[in-house]
Amino acid sequence: MINSVEQKPGTKAMMAQKAPYYRPVGKEIDVFEHAHSCRLPFLLKGPTGTGKSRFIEYMAHKLNQNLITVSCHEETSSTDLIGRYIIKGAETIWMDGPLTLAVKTGAILYLDEVAEARPDVVVAIHSLTDHRRELFIDKLGKTIKAHPDFMLVASFNPGYQRGFKELKPSTRQRFVAVSFNYPEPRVEADIVQNETNILDADAKRLVDIGNKIRNLTELGLTETVSTRLLVDAAKLIRSGLPKRSAVHVAVVEPLSDDEEVISALKDLCDLMI
Ligand code: ADP
Repeated sequence: MINSVEQKPGTKAMMAQKAPYYRPVGKEIDVFEHAHSCRLPFLLKGPTGTGKSRFIEYMAHKLNQNLITVSCHEETSSTDLIGRYIIKGAETIWMDGPLTLAVKTGAILYLDEVAEARPDVVVAIHSLTDHRRELFIDKLGKTIKAHPDFMLVASFNPGYQRGFKELKPSTRQRFVAVSFNYPEPRVEADIVQNETNILDADAKRLVDIGNKIRNLTELGLTETVSTRLLVDAAKLIRSGLPKRSAVHVAVVEPLSDDEEVISALKDLCDLMI
């Protein structure tokens, strides 16, 4: 006997209670609202830790829409998104995946780091990213029309540095896209301060450290200091860890495994905080 199940464990379906804190850095809120009213697929481009996930949480709350987030990785397949048959006791039941769930219920589906997923994921979302707005479920042999409120959002870390997967131009062209980057110092200090309640002066120092390291391109870091790392350091300082230790473990150590690089960065940070 085959039944239909509407939930998939392991994905985050949420209707936020309190508005998540999000500090706009440009016109992204306005742009997103327009894209949302046109139900256009939306791509958030930018390095890790620059507020992309926080932005979409904030927008879902602002637009009063349910948000389903899938963190894509190299094993994420179209089956993970669309759904699969599972055996439960003596029954075989169909389990909707997060994409199918979002398409049916009219949620925002956020595919975080979509370029990391297997290529069949991109194929699966094609017909949802154009005028058809429909999903083909091959295992059920049926096509479903997206709920009018369904919206597809994806994030992508452009491969301007080594080691990142690219998104095909033909796929990128299916999305309206906005770039996220490290905010200007005043804004970033505001974010760090708001997230952690540390002293303004300490927030500014952390942001100075972040910017100093970001400018050291000769170190060849795969990823540089994100706002997330600065927020983490601020949280540790707020919890009472000495400032230098907080910066060492939250900012320097995550950046590199090269002892010389780590030692040079620690010295630099010690001079700045
Ligand atoms: P991404 O999804 O780009 O990897 P996140 O959205 O998870 O990054 O952001 C990491 C952290 O940085 C957040 O938890 C938040 O503390 C902080 N952050 C970065 N940008 C902003 C912003 N514009 N407003 C509020 N918080 C931000």
